[in-house]
Amino acid sequence: MEDLGDRIQQLKKKRPDYGEILDFYQKVKEAQDKVKTSLKIAPIILKKKSKEFSAKEGFSLIQKEDFPLDTEASVSLFETLCHIGKEANPHMAEQVAKIGKALDHAGIDLKKLLKKGLAEQRVERVADEFGLDKKVFLFLIQSSIKPSIEAGMEQLRTEVDPETCLKGYCPVCGSLPSLSLLKEDVGKRYLLCSFCGYQWRVDRLFCPFCGNKDQESLHYFHGEGEEAHRIDLCDKCHQYIKTIDFRKIEQSDPVLEDLATLHLDILATQKGYKRPVPNPWAI
Ligand SMILES: [Zn+2]
Ligand SMILES: [Zn+2]
Repeated sequence: MEDLGDRIQQLKKKRPDYGEILDFYQKVKEAQDKVKTSLKIAPIILKKKSKEFSAKEGFSLIQKEDFPLDTEASVSLFETLCHIGKEANPHMAEQVAKIGKALDHAGIDLKKLLKKGLAEQRVERVADEFGLDKKVFLFLIQSSIKPSIEAGMEQLRTEVDPETCLKGYCPVCGSLPSLSLLKEDVGKRYLLCSFCGYQWRVDRLFCPFCGNKDQESLHYFHGEGEEAHRIDLCDKCHQYIKTIDFRKIEQSDPVLEDLATLHLDILATQKGYKRPVPNPWAI
């Protein structure tokens, strides 16, 4: 945790504009890590078939909905995050107040809703019904179940080989990647699952979203003075993924690095490219 704090201080110095959101990130991350130490997660029992399919056909091991949650811990984390949100900025504060009212008076069952956090559309429907900011509401729900999801992924880690899957979607849960990471001296490329946090290896020249491997239509750009952060563009599907080059910065939290370079997403959008999995912190 000390490392996270140090890196955040470094980033804040470099980009003072990000101060508020980086402070918010640190508080949320610390609250999530605290929950992790006492989680109670049911064991995930894989069907023999899903193991076989995963090995032979490249299907994911389980579906998003199959992750077991520690509901009590998620509810308590939701409350903590609402509290943190109240102090973060006026928009969050207003939303948290609205959410509190909706939960108190409209009889929304938070436990049920947290389970629905696994299926985004259902949470969005509730947000619509109560006039809540969808992004903020979904962020709070998903951040509250994240420790459970990551604990579930840890259970399954040994069931797949991260080096041989080479697909554009997560071999554990089937979700799309949120980031791409370059590691080791040779620059092995990994994708980071947007849902469960698993990392798996892919080819260096490869668009995870459309499978394009043609080097003529794959290119990238850096921000000025930002060798470690780049945007990988695909001209075939006009989508992009952000890449963090861990050969150029010390091992840090990839989600934090993503958050601290939202200006690169703005540049990519201006160039006409889309990010299939938006940065959830851009709220
Ligand atoms: Zn996953
Ligand atoms: Zn593509």
